[in-house]
Amino acid sequence: MIEINEAVRAFIDKTAGDTELSEDEYIDHSDGLIHCKKCGGRRQTILPDSLRHSYLMPRCVCPCQQEAEKQRKAAEEQRALMESIRRRRAQGLQDRYLHDFTFANDNGQNPLMEKARAYVENWKEAYRENTGLLLFGDVGTGKSFFAGCIANALIDQDVPVLMTNIPSILNRLTGMFAEDRAAFISALDDYSLLILDDLGVERNTEYALEQMFLVIDSRSRSRKPLIVTTNLKLEEIKNPPALAHARIYDRIMERCAPVLFSGRNFWEEKAAATKEAARGIVSPK
Ligand SMILES: [Zn+2]
Repeated sequence: MIEINEAVRAFIDKTAGDTELSEDEYIDHSDGLIHCKKCGGRRQTILPDSLRHSYLMPRCVCPCQQEAEKQRKAAEEQRALMESIRRRRAQGLQDRYLHDFTFANDNGQNPLMEKARAYVENWKEAYRENTGLLLFGDVGTGKSFFAGCIANALIDQDVPVLMTNIPSILNRLTGMFAEDRAAFISALDDYSLLILDDLGVERNTEYALEQMFLVIDSRSRSRKPLIVTTNLKLEEIKNPPALAHARIYDRIMERCAPVLFSGRNFWEEKAAATKEAARGIVSPK
């Protein structure tokens, strides 16, 4: 935009009739250029055309058009983010019930859940330092819920997380060729966080143990965090029954901080509450 002196203004007024105005535009008497009826801002500018010793009067966007474009872009980015999160959840939490393992659904009964929240808050550091968790303790003490809450909260931040278990992985590997198995296992390391739920329930065949070792060893070499939940006792993990187990548990203990779940069985409590509620429904009035 150049300064509008008398000569420039004469040029503008001479040219003004050439451009067609849309309904929300007018020629402003102050500078003779096209303005926006909504915000009054310029929709046209004037520049020197040194080649032809004349002027150019190209269109430009007024402030309200700029603002509308900014909002359109922001809405588009938000939509893309929501779509990405939706895809990550569908891909990373294939068992639908895991979608409900969220901090919003936490009943506040388990004080350990503070640790899950802290892990999410410190995620960047956990990722950088490759710090995982080993959640161990009795059945039904909320280990999977704990891990699922971390998974959902990180997915909400668009972090790629996979929560699965060894039997599912073995199922997927069945019938694959060796190189496809290797590719599948190494693809698990594309996820920033891998959660292996319920380790130790799988059948301890030589094949199963070998695949389990490959998954955990590959994860360990990727230097990305791993969270494991297991009903095994810490004693069993520290003193494994055989070498095949020992090298798996060694890898886990190297990078996963142990968290003991004990005491109240949350599933039993939930089942009792459900039973109580059902009693009310099915008993005659
Ligand atoms: Zn405008």
